[in-house]
Amino acid sequence: AKRNGRDRFQLFSAALAQERQRAVALETGLRAAIAAGDLRLHYQPKVAAATGELTGLEALARWHHPEYGEVSPDRFIAIAEESTLIIELGSWVLREACRQARAWLDAGVPLPPIAVNVSAGQILYHDLVAEVTGVIDASGVPPELLQIELTESVMAKDPELVASALDTLSRRGVTTAIDDFGTGYSSLSYLRSFPAHAIKIDQVFIERLTDSPDDDKIVRATISLAHSLGFRVVAEGVETEAQRDHLLALGCDELQGWYIGRPAPADSVPEVIARLRPG
Ligand code: C2E
Ligand code: CA
Ligand code: CA
Ligand code: CA
Repeated sequence: AKRNGRDRFQLFSAALAQERQRAVALETGLRAAIAAGDLRLHYQPKVAAATGELTGLEALARWHHPEYGEVSPDRFIAIAEESTLIIELGSWVLREACRQARAWLDAGVPLPPIAVNVSAGQILYHDLVAEVTGVIDASGVPPELLQIELTESVMAKDPELVASALDTLSRRGVTTAIDDFGTGYSSLSYLRSFPAHAIKIDQVFIERLTDSPDDDKIVRATISLAHSLGFRVVAEGVETEAQRDHLLALGCDELQGWYIGRPAPADSVPEVIARLRPG
């Protein structure tokens, strides 16, 4: 048994070492990809629950690694977040989303707000307000066309700093949304003091919404609470018509998910916009 345990330990540590090696290779590759402009943004629509009209597009980072193929954003964002790489990645995402928005506006595409995901490091170790303001001014994109999504966990790290950054941005016309709502800690206490416009209910609550009475109750209560505090409510991960109908009945304002549209490359966005007629 002892021997067996040791073999297993060696196997385990070999796997760990391999995993560590891969993470280092990914970090090196990601650094190079950002510098070379090899990342891409895909865009996923959000629509009004009641009318199906387009209300926004969320920009989602994509990375095709020359050796490993498509790397999941959950993986490369986590790697970037371990260092200042996330600040460089975040800057690129903001600039690229605004560059693309400007190009669509110039081409006469009727554009809804574009939401960009922001990580903790971009606020805590970097001047997000200066960055966003600079990118907006340089690109000439109206601030109303930019939305910032950040998770509760970001807020929890330094509530005062984050609240003041969101407040300044929202005075400039940029809207903000609380992402992955319900999966962080102290959800309710943060809602009270945060100058955000919308909350996005995490897809874990939408997944079993139609057959789990508990999830139904959670989503119902979240929508009611959010509305009474003046937030718009977006449901993430809507995959079926039954979920759409259920969310509509619960008074959810906006829907996002594969049932509405999958994240897609920039060149297919004008078609998506034409199909979903922005309100
Ligand atoms: P998120 O911000 O919660 O984005 C939603 C994720 O759910 C996206 O995964 C999207 O492709 C996926 N999704 C959308 N609709 C459905 C659906 O109906 N069913 C299912 N199963 N999934 C759906 P993705 O693109 O893999 O991104 C994962 C996460 O990586 C994002 O979660 C976000 O936290 C992070 N991320 C992506 N791009 C960026 C970025 O530019 N900056 C930062 N800081 N984070 C990013
Ligand atoms: Ca998001
Ligand atoms: Ca989310
Ligand atoms: Ca998520």
